[in-house]
Amino acid sequence: MGRPVQYNTNERQLTIPEGYSGEGFMATKMDQLVGLGRSHSLWPLPFATSCCGIEFMGTMGSNYDLGRFGAERMGFTPRQCDVLLVAGTISKKLAPVLRQVYLQMAEPRWVVAIGACASSGGIFDSYSVLQGIDQVIPVDVYVPGCPPRPEGIIEGILRVQDLVRAESTRRRNHPRYKELMESYGIE
Ligand code: SF4
Repeated sequence: MGRPVQYNTNERQLTIPEGYSGEGFMATKMDQLVGLGRSHSLWPLPFATSCCGIEFMGTMGSNYDLGRFGAERMGFTPRQCDVLLVAGTISKKLAPVLRQVYLQMAEPRWVVAIGACASSGGIFDSYSVLQGIDQVIPVDVYVPGCPPRPEGIIEGILRVQDLVRAESTRRRNHPRYKELMESYGIE
């Protein structure tokens, strides 16, 4: 006998930005409107190196369907993407490559560390493994787990959406953002 079909009843409804609205019109701030659009059309770049990458593939599949959140368009060139999804163990030898990929992404860009390895090195407390990607690039969202379940990865994407919605379109000019970039030696 097949498994009963389970529908996702927790899907969030689109949140209309604050402002004035009435029948047939809406007035709001440009930042909020752009944030709404960006948050529902994220283009992820999957940087998957090991088992967490397989879990991410599950997240993309029909059961979990990341496309429901507007983030199904994977890109494999950094120029096209705005969310770097790092899933898997990153060796110290690979760290400069990851940083290079991050630097090649245009602003605005966000980073998600998927799983224990990307977040902290995980169980590999060894001479060759980077103890968290935040040693080489800034991270916006950490997804715990070894590996995280697809629900966890989706939650990470939802948290990125929250950030995107709340940020100014001039994020890059913000003093705190500049300070963060300088702390990583990024101009
Ligand atoms: S966190 Fe666990 S599942 Fe993910 S890459 Fe590391 S060892 Fe594999």
